Amino acid sequence: MTRLFAWSRKFLLLMMSGFAFRAVTTDAALINGRNYVPLTSWAYENGFMCYQSQGGDRVVATNRTTRLAFAADARDAGINGVEVALCYPPANVKGTLLISQLDLDATVRPLVFPQKFPAKRITTICLDPGHGGKDTGNHVGWHYEKVYTLALAATVRDELKSAGFNVIMTRTKDASVGLADRPALANRLGADLFVSLHFNATPTGKNEVEGPQTYCITPVGASSTDAQGEGSNYGPTPANRVEQRSLLLAYDVQRSLVRTLGAEDRGVRRARFAVLRDATMPAILVEGGYMTHPIEGRKIFSDAYRRQMAQAIVTGILAYQKYTAPAVRPSPPATLHSAP
Ligand SMILES: [Zn+2]
Repeated sequence: MTRLFAWSRKFLLLMMSGFAFRAVTTDAALINGRNYVPLTSWAYENGFMCYQSQGGDRVVATNRTTRLAFAADARDAGINGVEVALCYPPANVKGTLLISQLDLDATVRPLVFPQKFPAKRITTICLDPGHGGKDTGNHVGWHYEKVYTLALAATVRDELKSAGFNVIMTRTKDASVGLADRPALANRLGADLFVSLHFNATPTGKNEVEGPQTYCITPVGASSTDAQGEGSNYGPTPANRVEQRSLLLAYDVQRSLVRTLGAEDRGVRRARFAVLRDATMPAILVEGGYMTHPIEGRKIFSDAYRRQMAQAIVTGILAYQKYTAPAVRPSPPATLHSAP
């Protein structure tokens, strides 16, 4: 009797391991040489309730505090209501939605289960107003990007100073500063965060595009959301050493921008921009909106809207502090001072 029981148990275990093995081999897949796993399996293993649409094109995973939304062939995932670019779009394979292991490791997990970092508290922030001097950046008529990035940076600087931070600026006037010199300054002066500020534009005739987006460094081995000028170098950059922190900072700033401004969410994105890849501290590049959009453009050119945007960026930075040592000052940003 006992022997029979032992044998059945062995058989049961064998059956179970057989099923488990079969689940892995039929559901996980290699797509273009990358490991993909079923989203629902990952979600269940991590304590989420999970719904997959019939046909497998969509997966929504929820727990008490988090809602994740994925769609087949869509580069963006919804993470608690913020669009976040994945490195590779999820794939529907025979009715099961699969996600790349790289995205689980480098995008989803760091945002959903954020680590606290034993870094020293944030005291110094480097602001980088995009362009300057001969490099005007985008322009719409006589409105030059370099003018508005500097104006925004000055307002963010005043707001950060009121919140108790030291602020370094890569430029304080209309001057040319090399791309590599910008993160180099932040590195040399020991900044704890690097925030580059820009405004977007679309080619003529596509002025319906609007909304802010926030970039952080692309994970090693992945292609960027914006692969411009990147070449084929997918290798590690100095910025990859702190890429999870940069992602968290980008997420908090993007969420704050979209909520505060009521703007369209163009998402957290990835790029190996020259100003991001050499920064040794968490670094982001904010595209505050589209100068080419008839309504958003007019707002960007107004002091009042840029003040709101500055406040949103600072609120995002303050939110990010929860992952590091105690906040410099836990209160929300003080009243805005106008830029000098
Ligand atoms: Zn720019």
